[in-house]
Amino acid sequence: MKAEIIAVGSELLLGQISNTNARFISSQLAELGIDVYYHTVVGDNSKRLFETIKLAEQRADLIIFTGGLGPTKDDLTKETIATYLNKKLIMNEQALKYIKEFFKRMNREMTENNKKQALVLDGCTVLSNKHGMAPGMLLKGDKHAYILLPGPPKEMEPMFQFEAKPLLQKMLNGETIILSHVMRFYGIGEAELETKVQDLLDNQTNPTLAPLASDGEVTLRLTAKSETEEEAWEKIEMLQTEVFNRVGEYVYGYNNDSLASKLQEILSENHLTISAAESMTAGLFQSELASIPGMGAVLVGGMITYTEDIKVKQLGVKKQTINEYGVVSSECAEAMAMRIKEKFGTNIGIGITGAAGPDAHGGQPAGTVWIGIVLNDLAPVSYRLNLSGTRNTNRLRAVKFTIHYLIQ
Ligand code: ATP
Ligand code: MG
Repeated sequence: MKAEIIAVGSELLLGQISNTNARFISSQLAELGIDVYYHTVVGDNSKRLFETIKLAEQRADLIIFTGGLGPTKDDLTKETIATYLNKKLIMNEQALKYIKEFFKRMNREMTENNKKQALVLDGCTVLSNKHGMAPGMLLKGDKHAYILLPGPPKEMEPMFQFEAKPLLQKMLNGETIILSHVMRFYGIGEAELETKVQDLLDNQTNPTLAPLASDGEVTLRLTAKSETEEEAWEKIEMLQTEVFNRVGEYVYGYNNDSLASKLQEILSENHLTISAAESMTAGLFQSELASIPGMGAVLVGGMITYTEDIKVKQLGVKKQTINEYGVVSSECAEAMAMRIKEKFGTNIGIGITGAAGPDAHGGQPAGTVWIGIVLNDLAPVSYRLNLSGTRNTNRLRAVKFTIHYLIQ
């Protein structure tokens, strides 16, 4: 099955927003093994949208639209598709009821044009919108399938994932089962990983292996097609074992795992709490942890100690330590870790200090980071990183290194 994603919205063409919807939908379709051949962007213009649909039908079986399902004049996606397919728009009672309830809950007056949002293409399956008003639609034609989704990502993403995707999976199952599995790596670069699995990459047909790198991490997606689910899993497991034999030491998780979610799991299983004193990362470490549900049982808190003065006066690092070794030093990082652990009464204390760049700091070149770590009554340890990214990638790398160290 070949897919095309059509994002409708003049704001996309004006450069006011990026087409993150297409990215999200593409990554979801990859999990189903559906190949996306084109991403198209078109403004809020009926004539040009009409032409776009015509073109898409020549090169795709599945056409997915996002945007333009709202109540305003410039929202004309479903109207244009209705004209194109010669279909009526009919009032969907369930959707209308939902919109009425929505206005009641918000204590707002419902205007006539809001009713327009409950109009759907005749013969479609309605995709309910749990986070907004406009319902989505899936329509099967003779040669093509069409999916219409709202523009706002917070409405579109759950609708696609939980309403449209299972229906697509069902449509595909008529053909074959497609399973996909992601292995997550840290501490190895994309090029090195590719070299180590090169023969597997060269000889792949089914299952397939696709590497992807971002933010200092690498993933491998293993996808298998088969008649039955068991057979597909067998294929994936065999390939996974091959990969593991070569680069297993760098695997930290699978599928939806993240470094922070693994840390949450490990610390909560072991009933360990953590606090951090952050200088160059200024809260990024704690923010990364806090993005994981359930972190409250693990992360107690911390301090942003950006200046030397605050490190000394508020955190309690000895002035003499900084004078003697500098603020970007193993001694300072360890003292920060020790002091925050004592202050916050946690099992683990973290101290992060460094020169984020682009300039040198504390007598150290840009990219130098010291990370201090202390666990209970053990002696503190510290690690030096020599990073070469931009200011913000260096800050993120420092955070990821710290989390990865803790989950090892
Ligand atoms: P609404 O009911 O909010 O008007 P809609 O379905 O009519 O929703 P649009 O009016 O096209 O959608 O877009 C609403 C908002 O959704 C945009 O202002 C933008 O913030 C976001 N959005 C739309 N399309 C995209 C896209 N392709 N990628 C990311 N965000 C998008
Ligand atoms: Mg709109």
